[in-house]
Amino acid sequence: MNYVSTRGGIAPVSLEVAIAAGLAPDGGLYVPERIPVVDMTHPKATLAQTAEQVLSPYFAGSGLREHLSQLCTTAFDFPAPLRALNAPDDYLLELFHGPTAAFKDYAARFLAETLSRLREPSQPTTTVLVATSGDTGAAVAAAFHRRPGFRVLVLYPDGRVSPRQAHVLGSFSNNVQAMRVDGSFDDCQRLVKQALVDASLREKVTLTSANSISLGRLLPQIAYYAHAALDFHARHGMPLNFIVPTGNLGNALACWLARSMGLPVGEIVLACNANDTLPRYLDGEDYAPRATEATLANAMDVGAPSNFERLRWWHPDDAELRSGLRALRVDDAAIRDTIANAPRRHGVVPCPHTAVGLRVLERLRAAGDTGAWAVVATAHPAKFESVVEPLVGHAVEPPAALTAALAHPAHAQPLAADYAALRDHLLRGAGA
Ligand SMILES: *Cc1c(COP(=O)(O)O)cnc(C)c1O
Repeated sequence: MNYVSTRGGIAPVSLEVAIAAGLAPDGGLYVPERIPVVDMTHPKATLAQTAEQVLSPYFAGSGLREHLSQLCTTAFDFPAPLRALNAPDDYLLELFHGPTAAFKDYAARFLAETLSRLREPSQPTTTVLVATSGDTGAAVAAAFHRRPGFRVLVLYPDGRVSPRQAHVLGSFSNNVQAMRVDGSFDDCQRLVKQALVDASLREKVTLTSANSISLGRLLPQIAYYAHAALDFHARHGMPLNFIVPTGNLGNALACWLARSMGLPVGEIVLACNANDTLPRYLDGEDYAPRATEATLANAMDVGAPSNFERLRWWHPDDAELRSGLRALRVDDAAIRDTIANAPRRHGVVPCPHTAVGLRVLERLRAAGDTGAWAVVATAHPAKFESVVEPLVGHAVEPPAALTAALAHPAHAQPLAADYAALRDHLLRGAGA
């Protein structure tokens, strides 16, 4: 399988080149030349084995193919259970059982393993630069922690992530360094982008980014949709519909890919917060990205979802694209109401992002929908305790991995939202 750019400005490249580069040289996103169809009627025994089966066509002809089994075993070594909620046909696909309690752990671990395999032993240390509003930075830091040949620099907006998120980000020592930036998430992203296009810096420091548009993060996310949908189909003889809490559209695009590959995925509904670029477009308005608005579901605060460019590439025709997807907008008041009532209504305590998905399910049921729906639970509620605990009226116990990270001392270095300061820091660490 070869990979091309959504902007059409490059010759097809191998999977290795696409994963190592992140962004295509013409500024586009890498996409597979065609979407492979898999012939599967049952899941494999484990999530890792299903992952290997559905990802193998993307690895066909690549030097990475011989490592795929090992990549999947390492990245998919924690479960993604489909939990039944209170009402019949309501389910929760729990993707938060990894080391940093969010779904991004799967893809970050897969990408880290892949980049390790692609690395020559003689190469200088690679610095992984990440801007984060919380979850991405932690997942990437955990995935590269103590990994030979890599160091990680995480930039987060000081005072704008939850106290627990900040603690986790600062809890890694060794080859991971957290920088608390005196600015917004957009400032962090701008600093990272500036470093990545700074040619004279890149002559001295080997840099890569691990952001969500990387093909090495998009593809592995297909695995848990495939496993859940195949398992459901084998038991109930029908496809499973999904509600996906959406920000940058990476996770939902993987669900869409799973369906396009012939797996038994039914309808897909994107659950968005007040950042409603996608709901407005899918309802018939022109595609018009807007400035990002801060909400309770902060990991979904995206006004211009990057992966839309991939979806557009596969469906240049608006009507065709709109016929395969729906999206609904959920504001902060509705998020609060859903969290407060979820223990009684659904039998679970959700994180604010998962609550956006549950709210969409509540609306579909109120409109008379009787299908089988799985809401994707993207993070553990204990990570967002300052929002969740006052609404449900009791403490939420963190999972073991989070408790361990919170027990470590945390340290973050202050950084001005100024590119010269970051550049200086990178150059001083270049020999490390
Ligand atoms: C990143 C994130 C999302 C949004 O996922 P996208 O792939 O960007 O659409 C939703 N919920 C949580 C908890 C996240 O960390």
